[in-house]
Order: sequence, then structure tokens, then C-alpha cells
Amino acid sequence: MTSANKIYSLALTGVQQLVPYKPGKPIEELERELGLTNIVKLASNENPLGPGKKALAAIQAALPSLALYPDGSGFALKRALAKKYAVDDSQITLGNGSNEILELVARAFLRPGLEVIFSQHAFAVYPLVTQAVGATAVVVPAVDYGHDLAGMLERVTENTRVVFIANPNNPTGTLLSQASVEAFIAALPDTVVCVLDEAYFEFVSRVETVNSIEWLKKYPNLIITRTFSKAYGLAGLRVGYSLSSPEIADILNRVRQPFNNNTLALVAAEAALSDDEHLQQTISVNAQGMQQLTYGFKQLGLEWIPSAGNFVSVDLRQPGQPIYEALLRKGVIVRPVGNYELPNHLRISIGTQAENQLFLQALADTINNV
Ligand SMILES: *Cc1c(COP(=O)(O)O)cnc(C)c1O
Repeated sequence: MTSANKIYSLALTGVQQLVPYKPGKPIEELERELGLTNIVKLASNENPLGPGKKALAAIQAALPSLALYPDGSGFALKRALAKKYAVDDSQITLGNGSNEILELVARAFLRPGLEVIFSQHAFAVYPLVTQAVGATAVVVPAVDYGHDLAGMLERVTENTRVVFIANPNNPTGTLLSQASVEAFIAALPDTVVCVLDEAYFEFVSRVETVNSIEWLKKYPNLIITRTFSKAYGLAGLRVGYSLSSPEIADILNRVRQPFNNNTLALVAAEAALSDDEHLQQTISVNAQGMQQLTYGFKQLGLEWIPSAGNFVSVDLRQPGQPIYEALLRKGVIVRPVGNYELPNHLRISIGTQAENQLFLQALADTINNV
């Protein structure tokens, strides 16, 4: 055995086989590779308007205090969240992105021999956190690209410890009715921790939702995760949170590192929460951009998966990877989703009107030339 292989053999089995998460291509990387400028990135469901003014002002004001450790309890941000969502501070866990919350769940609740249920085409982090701790992933085939909740329920065994549901799901954008999600949680044994990932919650129109937070009163095994990365435009700062029973929050807080949210992230998220104008503008730009993109797809004779998020996956009826690469050469970064078992789709994050237009033009030029 070579010494490099020997080192790998020392890692946990799950880690040895782990293929790391592949993020959207950073703008700077494409600039370096192709010497392009004016690159349009519609690849990571980021807010095309950027952060709001209130968040930026809060960051500016906090800069002089950067020599001090952050407030490890996140007191002020938790207070603001508790007030906004009418929960107790003790029900909140702050994460370095909601991604960290998903990891904390795995660390706190999983081990080899336990099973985790999630859907085909569901968010890529669920299999990663499951495998990293050596638990067994149970992937349930999707129906019409969305979660088959009945199928997921059928796969529950005495070894099931965690279920992940993304609503809306990324990368498909599929939305489950609130009634079907609640019926699912009600039917789950109370020994199964149910993670309801609502990273795109803010984009879902009020008409289609009742407040899932209400369910926390009935289901102490429920964890709702949300984030400041998408609608709030703070992806670079890494802040997410979960709402749960105080017991689950206590468990998650035991395994998180003491200063997992930095000072700028804490103050910016708190300020962003009160910036309703920016949020409403974001939602409105997203709705208009969704119309613009889907109209463009229609013109090109392409179908797409109807999406409740700030992105849409389009069916190219041919392998997506070469189209993705051709778009890169035109300075447009989107997201191939072959790793989600969607080899003929590309996922496009909704941009500004000008960005959407550039993308549609590049797509039209590309598919007419292959
Ligand atoms: C983007 C995303 C997240 C995590 O985002 P963070 O930046 O870590 O908060 C979680 N779940 C889904 C479904 C996502 O698309």
C-alpha cells in the first residue's frame, strides 16, 4: 500500500467514499480560466439584488468590534427571529448557513446502522451528511420530480432516525402542499426526527402556505430549517437557523462550535430580518424573472419543472453538460444537475431582467448550434 492510500484507509468508511459537494462555479474561476469579463452567474440561487441596505449598514457599524469574539449565543438575532416568528428563543439554533444545521442533525442523531430517508432529486447535502457519519441513506424515487411522501412513509423502519424533506425542493423547485406535509409528520413515529428544509420559504406565495411553525407545538421531533442565503441575499456570510422543540435545539447546540456565526453575519442577518422592503423587492423581481425565463423556454420549445423557488430547471431533451460548457464559454454560469439524476436538465437561478435576457440569448444561440 502506498503511503497516500494508507492515509485514506485511516478515514471513516463513509468519508473514504465521500464525493464532496460541487458548488456553482465562482465568477472569478471562470474569469481566470477563459479571460472573460461581464460574467453572469445564475448558478447558486443567490439574490441578484445583492444584500439589502440595512444589512450593509449593520456590517459597516460592526467593523470596529471585530477584535472581539462574536456573541456565541446569538442573543440579538435569536430575539429578532423569535419575535418575527412567534417562537421562544430556546427553540432556535443558529448555523453557519442552514447547511451546518443539517450537519449538526447528522452528528447529533445518526450513526452506522441508522437510516435516513430522503427523496430522489432532493438537495445534495442530505446524502453527504448521511454518508459522512456512516448512516444508511434510503432514497425514495420521486413522483413527477417531487417527493413521494406516501412512498417515504412506507420506507420507515425501526432503524429510521431522520427524514429530510425540502419544500420547495432544490433543484426541482417542486412544492408539497402544507396539508400533505403535516399529514406526513403526523404519521411519522415520534422516534424519527423530521427535518423540513424551507430554504426557499420566502418565495412561496402566502396563498399556498399555512404556517409550518404552528406544527412545532404538536411535533417535538420536527426541525424547520431556513436561511439568510437565498431571499435575504447574504449567502457569503453563512447564516441559517432552525426552529424546533427546545429539546432538539438544546441537543443541536451541544454539538455546534461555540462561535459558529461571526459578528458580521449576526448583525447583518438581524438587520436583514427587518428590511421588508428589500425582501418584497426580491420576491417581486423573482416572480417577474420566473415569467421571463419560462416565457423564453416556451419560445424555444423547451419544457421546465414548475418551480416555487428562485430557480427553475429546464429540460433540454439532450445532455445538459455540453450545453452548460457552451454557456460557460459565452460567460454564463448555470448549474448542471446530472449529479441529481437529471442529466438532461440545467438549473437556472432567477437573475435580474438583464441577466435573464443574456442567459436566454446565450441558450438560444447554443441550442441552435448543436
Ligand atoms: C441553499 C440551500 C440550503 C443551504 O443554504 P445555506 O447557505 O447553507 O443556508 C439548504 N437547503 C436547500 C434546499 C438549499 O437549496
